[in-house]
Amino acid sequence: MAVASRLAPSIATDLAFEIEGLVRRYGYRRALDGLDLVVPWNQRVAILGPNGAGKTTLLRILATLVRPTRGQVRVGGLELPSQASTVRRYVGFLAHQTFLYDELTARENLIFYGHLYGLPDPPGRADALLGQVGLTDRAGHRVRTLSRGLQQRLALARAVVHDPPLLLLDEPETGLDLAGIALLGSLFYDVTGHPRTVLFTTHDPELALALADRVIVLARGRKVFDRSASELTPSVLAAVLRGEGERR
Ligand code: ATP
Repeated sequence: MAVASRLAPSIATDLAFEIEGLVRRYGYRRALDGLDLVVPWNQRVAILGPNGAGKTTLLRILATLVRPTRGQVRVGGLELPSQASTVRRYVGFLAHQTFLYDELTARENLIFYGHLYGLPDPPGRADALLGQVGLTDRAGHRVRTLSRGLQQRLALARAVVHDPPLLLLDEPETGLDLAGIALLGSLFYDVTGHPRTVLFTTHDPELALALADRVIVLARGRKVFDRSASELTPSVLAAVLRGEGERR
């Protein structure tokens, strides 16, 4: 498979990632408490669940920013944390923080990250992405002068600057207007038009079902619900979430 071989030249795997018995503790608190999750390439997975369920912690572990306390995590067949530096090249991560430089312009930020990833033509990539996220007319504006939603659009562009096969998005709709939300789906394809594997968190059942093939609900650091999106409606999913919220 083309994407898998890009990620792990020495290991053929049909799985984007495999997680077994994942525990992440913060002091006495277990943010993740024995999570098992297998995701094949090209799947779009929405992660929902009450506040504090462990959603961000899961994304941060896959993004190699947090180490597991216990359990197995393999991305494209590569082990975390031992092979984190290889995995990092192939993962795009949108966090709650934008990771943008306030004093640089929108375009300069993307060019900076393009150089960091060793891209052949950072300015060309920056201009293409600015167009994709509707920021061409703001290319020369400093980040600190952009509204929250415009910064979120730029942060989304930054997350895919290196055209990663695996994209992790933490509440990507934050601050976006309807047009911004509509462009999210376009980021789910790489530059050749091949679908990326996407894992995104949201509190919005409608958005989850609009963008995902598969819906997972986390609660108390465990997977409590795992269904194909085609089997669900927003009201059924909302009822599942209300139930888990009450038990939180
Ligand atoms: P939300 O819907 O509120 O964004 P979440 O599902 O993303 O929540 P996490 O941010 O993963 O939840 O947090 C899971 C648990 O781990 C929470 O109880 C949280 O307080 C705790 N936690 C997360 N990060 C840290 C940290 N750096 N130090 C201590 N505790 C943490």
